[in-house]
Amino acid sequence: MAKVVIKECNDYGLDMVKQQLTEGIKLLGGWGQFVSADMKVLLKVNLIGPKTPDSAAVTHCEFVRALTQILQDKGCIVWIGDSSGGAIAGIAPTASGFKVSGLEQVAEDEGAVIKNFDREGVVEVKTDNGKTEHMYLAKPMFEADFVINLPKLKTHSAGIYTGAVKNLFGCIPGLRKADYHRQAPDSKDLGMIIADIHKSVSVGLHIMDGVIAMQGEGPTAGEVYPAQKILMSTDPLALDTVAAAMIGMQVDDIPILLSARERKLGESDLKTIEITGDYTTPPVLQGYKYPKRFRSSKKKNNAALIKIIDFLKARPKVNTKRCKHCNMCVESCPVNAIDKESKKINYKSCIECMCCHELCLHKAIDLKNDKWIAELFMRFYRRRMQ
Ligand code: SF4
Ligand code: SF4
Repeated sequence: MAKVVIKECNDYGLDMVKQQLTEGIKLLGGWGQFVSADMKVLLKVNLIGPKTPDSAAVTHCEFVRALTQILQDKGCIVWIGDSSGGAIAGIAPTASGFKVSGLEQVAEDEGAVIKNFDREGVVEVKTDNGKTEHMYLAKPMFEADFVINLPKLKTHSAGIYTGAVKNLFGCIPGLRKADYHRQAPDSKDLGMIIADIHKSVSVGLHIMDGVIAMQGEGPTAGEVYPAQKILMSTDPLALDTVAAAMIGMQVDDIPILLSARERKLGESDLKTIEITGDYTTPPVLQGYKYPKRFRSSKKKNNAALIKIIDFLKARPKVNTKRCKHCNMCVESCPVNAIDKESKKINYKSCIECMCCHELCLHKAIDLKNDKWIAELFMRFYRRRMQ
């Protein structure tokens, strides 16, 4: 029987979060079941974009600090990683996300290591979703000895709800995420792709930051809801089933969870999930606001958004005037898309991970959009952002 622990947690005070996490993990068998000294533990946060910790859009940095301290007390080496969604002016905003969210500061204070999934390389995995034959996932997911998934409790304007199952979508680095959105505009199809990610990586624990949650038009534009809960489980679907029940939803309402059920990612029947901790049944979050599309008959897809992302999307291009021919980009490209001599990029092979752009020490890889109007817009936007 799957087990989900729910703990009350009023705010992000460090002592409070540490105490609730410690008590919760004890109910799942204790930290000794999961980690030991010298293990590299990756905290896979939700860093959807450059959002502040109090926006409720990202895993709160103090929540991550608490977990980092607990794991370091056990002798673990802590990594904090993700790749942000979407694009700002055609560029994946992961690096600025780490700054704005406070996670970079937490890593610096605590001696943890930031793993920006856009610059760490990829591992190719086989898929079974009927849309793609293989996909590329961020290397740290495979290099860590133990991975803890740290989703946020949020509604989602297109996907209705986002939690532990959906959070692994961030394992796809760079702008490639938009490609999967294009191939699977329907949330249930996207759920099949996400199920492939779960089947390809090994995640030992899922801990949901529901201290402040997001309601309404999430995952970034919703309103803050002080849910004051932490959920913990080894089963991502069971955790989401319980979290969804807390906000008055069922698995049947959430396409990505329907796919997760079909692909047997875990338990999705409340009758066969043991709820423990401060509750034995899902505590109802009164007045929680739903996204407009909840229970609407409209086809749930985000095709319009994907078209905009596609239009604005920049591609890497070597600036031959600045290039020093060090070949760092050539050797780092996970799909050998950069010609060693000419430095031309084969865009048919390029998976848009942006590793080359991130790694070039000479700033010789520009991100350019071939459409002049999009390029003009991006330049204007970037100038405004500086
Ligand atoms: S990493 Fe930069 S400088 Fe080195 S070869 Fe590539 S583009 Fe040129
Ligand atoms: S050229 Fe290679 S390293 Fe650069 S974005 Fe494309 S796949 Fe990534």
